[in-house]
Formats: sequence, C-alpha cells, structure tokens
Amino acid sequence: MPSPQADSCDAIVVGSGPGGATVARELSRRGKRVLILERGHNKPIKGTTAQCVGYLLIPGKGLLFTNQLLALGRGIITGGSSIAAYATALDPPLEKFRSYGIDLAGELAEARKELPVAPLEDRLIGPLARRTMESARSLGYDWKKLDKIVYQDKCLPDCDKCTMGCPYGAKWDARMYVEEAVRSGAVLRASAKVNKVLLENRTAVGVEYTQKGKTHRVYAATIVVSAGGIGSPLILRKSGLPGAGHDFFFDPLIAVMGTVKDIKGGKEFPMATGLRLEEEGYLMTDLPWPGWIYRMFTAEVLRADRLFSHSHTLQIMIKLRDGLGGRLTDRGFVKKDLPKAEKKKFRDGYERAKKILKNAGAKHLVREKTGGQVVKNPFVYDI
Ligand SMILES: Cc1cc2nc3c(=O)[nH]c(=O)nc-3n(C[C@H](O)[C@H](O)[C@H](O)COP(=O)(O)OP(=O)(O)OC[C@H]3O[C@@H](n4cnc5c(N)ncnc54)[C@H](O)[C@@H]3O)c2cc1C
Repeated sequence: MPSPQADSCDAIVVGSGPGGATVARELSRRGKRVLILERGHNKPIKGTTAQCVGYLLIPGKGLLFTNQLLALGRGIITGGSSIAAYATALDPPLEKFRSYGIDLAGELAEARKELPVAPLEDRLIGPLARRTMESARSLGYDWKKLDKIVYQDKCLPDCDKCTMGCPYGAKWDARMYVEEAVRSGAVLRASAKVNKVLLENRTAVGVEYTQKGKTHRVYAATIVVSAGGIGSPLILRKSGLPGAGHDFFFDPLIAVMGTVKDIKGGKEFPMATGLRLEEEGYLMTDLPWPGWIYRMFTAEVLRADRLFSHSHTLQIMIKLRDGLGGRLTDRGFVKKDLPKAEKKKFRDGYERAKKILKNAGAKHLVREKTGGQVVKNPFVYDI
C-alpha cells in the first residue's frame, strides 16, 4: 500500500549521473515535485586522489571486474561518472537511434546550444597531447582536437584534476544539473541506495531504498531508473525483471605508452586530441593520466623501469566500439568475453599507436599484454 509520502512527489529519479540529473532538472523546471535518490555522497568536489579512490575505485562499488579481469570504473557519487569523466563530447549516432524509432536531432541541437561544447584553446592542450597530435598528423592521420564540454575561462593549464573531479567548475559535470534541479525545488537524498522498484499490477508505483542502515519506501506516479549501465539493470532485476543486464557494450580500452626525452610535463587535460576510425570501430586519443594512475597501471604490467617516467611519457588510448553481449550477475559481476574480432581491433590500434609514438621520438614502449587471449589491465568505462 502506498505510504503517507505517496503524494509528496510527482517523480522519483534514481541516480544523479548525466541521465538522472538531466531528467530531474527538466521535470523540476516544469514544476514537478522531484525526489532524487543517489547512492553516493554529495560532499563538495575536492579534486583529490583520496576522494577519487573513494567514489571510483572501491572494489565491488565503483570498481567492478569482468570475468577476463578487465576493470570497470563508475562514479558512485552525486553527479555519477561525469565527476571523473573527461568531458569529451562525441555526437550520438543519430541514424542508429533513428533505426530504433528515436530521433535525437532536436535534443542534440538543444544540448549543443546550451553547453560549452568546443575544442580546447591551445593554452589548455598540454605538451604530451600536442606532441602526439603532431606526430600522428605528420603520418597523415586526421588527428585533431576533440570537442569538450568545458567552461574554458575557468580551466587551468598544467592541471590534472579532471579524473579526480574538477573543483574549479570548469569541466561540465552532472552535479551542475542536480544543483539546478534542487534550485527549482527538487529534493536530493544522497547516500540513499535504491534496492528495487515497487510494483502494483505490473506498474511501477515507488521504490525501496536504504539510507543509514534503515529501509524506506517512497511512492510517486513516475519512477525513473537512471542508475547507470550497471546500477539500473541490477535494480530492475531485483524488481522482478530477470532479463535485465544481458547484452551490453562497455567500450573497453587499452593504453600504449612511450617516453620522450625533451618534454617534462604530465599534468594535462586527458583526451584533448584524437582520431575517430569509424570503419575500424575504434577511437584513438592522447591519455595523459594523473601520475598515480599511470604508476598503478605501469606497476601492474611489471614495468618498474618506467615507474618514474610519468612526466615525459606519451600515452595513447585505444577505445573500442564493442558489440553487444555478455551478462551481469546479480552481484554486479560482469561476464563478457571479447571476441577475436575485437582483440584484433586492439592489435591494429596498438600497431598504429606504436608508429605514432616512435615517430614522436618515443622509446621504451609499454603496452598492455594481449597475449592473444585476454587483454590485461585496460581501464574500462561504465556504459
Ligand atoms: C574515467 C571516466 C572518463 C570518462 N570520460 C568520458 C568522456 O570524456 N566523454 C563521455 O561522453 N563519457 C565519458 N565517460 C562515460 C560517462 O561518464 C558515462 O557514460 C556517463 O556518466 C553515464 O551517465 P549515467 O547517468 O547513465 O550513469 P552514471 O554517470 O554512472 O550515474 C549513475 C548514478 O546512479 C547512482 N547509482 C547507482 N546505483 C544506485 C542505486 N542502487 N541507488 C541509487 N543510486 C545509484 C550512481 O552513484 C551514479 O551517481 C567517462 C567515464 C569514466 C569512468
């Protein structure tokens, strides 16, 4: 039976990443009473390693693994993964959406009009990214600056805080929309983990969530489950939809690195430049990770000799468009094997990256071991 809180809100939005925050803001602007339930905290973004580890890299929470031990990172925090994201803005594939009967052209135009989408000014392109771009271009690749969603007047050169969360309000993140929603009357309940959607006669009528060890039930006419590519199917499963969480993609990636002698930097906006290889099905970009992440991955592939070369290491990311497949277990364990064709894409990308790095004067190349089997150590985005 609906609780006394039934008429306290019109809509419940589960999760406050880009998906949930956008819906919450829109509904609040239209005068709807919105309750946002967010599993993570809502403390101010500090841009520190410690805060980032807490929301992105706690195993079983932000950090999940596939059966091939690929790591998947997702932000469990108000604003979701956008807090850690690099704000690279690639247009959605409009034709593909149209084939499902969804026309996103209007929304895309609206988003582009509202958001500060543009390539970074030259002063914000770091020396490692610039060297990578120059090298690729001299080999004939159409490698260029990528569009970013950044308030560039607030963005600092020689800064590597994007991954940890931008404390300067320069990088767009979904918290900005959550805050707007709250200013329009929405209520944000942080550290509130939704367990399941409550159904009556096969209709969603509310949700059950846990906050500070107590379980609560809230009801509304509209329930929006936007807890991310892993969070949403897990909630739907517990709500009686066992088919949720099958056949997904997760854009696996690897990084290829090489050191140059004549650059000393390392603090840059990642993914500032890149190359889209549509037919080949992958994207290549610079990826100057912060030093601590660089050292973590370098240690993992047992390259102690490269551990302290971060400031002069060029890093190229190869990010695949993987096909649909796999399934989530009830505990959020991800079962998905990369088929041979996708491993081949990684090998092609690796060969290209190697040429670009060598042409840039890089030595001591490091790559993730593919071993013809498992691609080891890539960091993988949540969907
Ligand atoms: C390091 C990194 C870099 C990235 N860079 C880019 C980039 O440059 N460009 C780009 O387009 N994309 C990038 N992405 C991907 C992008 O961030 C995601 O695609 C996007 O955030 C997905 O939005 P979402 O709202 O669907 O989910 P999410 O952002 O994952 O948000 C889901 C929210 O739901 C909450 N939640 C989960 N479970 C529950 C629950 N049970 N109850 C309540 N709340 C719950 C989570 O805490 C989270 O706040 C990056 C991702 C990462 C990790």
